[in-house]
Amino acid sequence: MQTVTVLGATGSIGCNTLDVIARHPDAYRVFAITGHSQLELLMQQAKVCSPRYVVLADESRYQEAKALASEYGVTADILCGPAALEDVASAGEVDIVMAAIVGGAGLLPTLAAVKAAKKVLLANKEALVMSGALFIDAARQSGASILPIDSEHNAIFQCLPQDFNYGDLAGSGIHSILLTGSGGPFRTRDLSTFADISVEEACSHPNWDMGRKITVDSATMMNKGLEFIEACWLFGLATEDITVVLHPQSTIHSMVQYVDGSVIAQLGHPDMRTPIAYGLAWPERIEAGVAPLDFSQLADLTFDTPCPERYPNLQLAIDACKEGQAATTRLNAANEVAVEAFLNGAIRFTDIARVNQDTLNKMEPLTVSSLQQILEQDRAAREVAQQITRGLT
Ligand code: NDP
Ligand code: MG
Repeated sequence: MQTVTVLGATGSIGCNTLDVIARHPDAYRVFAITGHSQLELLMQQAKVCSPRYVVLADESRYQEAKALASEYGVTADILCGPAALEDVASAGEVDIVMAAIVGGAGLLPTLAAVKAAKKVLLANKEALVMSGALFIDAARQSGASILPIDSEHNAIFQCLPQDFNYGDLAGSGIHSILLTGSGGPFRTRDLSTFADISVEEACSHPNWDMGRKITVDSATMMNKGLEFIEACWLFGLATEDITVVLHPQSTIHSMVQYVDGSVIAQLGHPDMRTPIAYGLAWPERIEAGVAPLDFSQLADLTFDTPCPERYPNLQLAIDACKEGQAATTRLNAANEVAVEAFLNGAIRFTDIARVNQDTLNKMEPLTVSSLQQILEQDRAAREVAQQITRGLT
């Protein structure tokens, strides 16, 4: 029996994780679940999965959470605040931590799990983008296993040789990594209408059902940019080792191209329960509630190259990745501010890339390595991005 903490249980990945866990009551027990704003859902989940702890990130709602817990008959201890998130991610009883808080808010609890040598199922890509080398070094030092949950990285992980030596593509007979992306809802939309894209349009992904932030990131392809950076860190790749391939059907989740001309791909329905189940059970496999692919029903699988004018955020992310840690931390921070402003109706869709670019341009190049420096760059970039955003509103 493995004990699991689900950080971000009330989100899209969190709900899918609890769904997979519920299918295997003899294999997994939930130790703690965490949420932020969706208190009722958090208590409903607690009622079903009976964790020891229910953690609310937002301290100001502690009394409300206590009252709701007793109304729902939840017997778990109710904890609040950032320190509690780190506690349930690193507690001695915990074997597996699903890191599924969205954005930079997930960095410290995810790092706590890494430092405590947990098996970390990494959905929260922003944590790795923000802290890169520090995150990977912490895992090496503690012996934590990082299992990629992002579907592309999970696919790459499944297509790599078993004895893959991280950072040594040539020695592993690998030519390159092909990172696939659907291109989002605006792949064929007339470019001259991009400034008019509504929140509702940007929040409806053609293939995946996800949280709002990552859905907007998919529409701008910043998501692919963050994934590009994520892949560099996870697999020890250089930027020239990765090619982004548009694949609108989201059936192939990514591929590894070998020097002999072979390409190994991982296919499946666009359902996050597949990578989640893979991460939970690795190196075994378990049932995930996902129907088998029916090849007689599959439409054509098509491929294309992303157009830079349509997806300026993708190139921004690749350039930041080449530049270094300060640039990727700042870009992630700016993008979180810009996406939130877009979701709140304060800026236009096309302003997201503008806020990101202008934030990077306004800040001097810098070398960062410590957690304190990273958090400081995150804070400073958010401030710059907010100023730029206010100017656009
Ligand atoms: P959601 O927005 O659906 O869920 C986010 C979770 O984080 C919720 O539990 C939310 O709580 C919690 N949360 C939000 N803000 C804070 C905060 N300040 N402090 C603590 N907790 C907070 O996102 P997704 O599930 O879609 O994505 C989660 C992560 O996984 C992201 O990093 C995303 O990039 C990554 N990912 C997601 C995929 C998907 O298919 N959804 C695919 C690949 C990666 P509440 O809802 O209660 O406010
Ligand atoms: Mg992905």
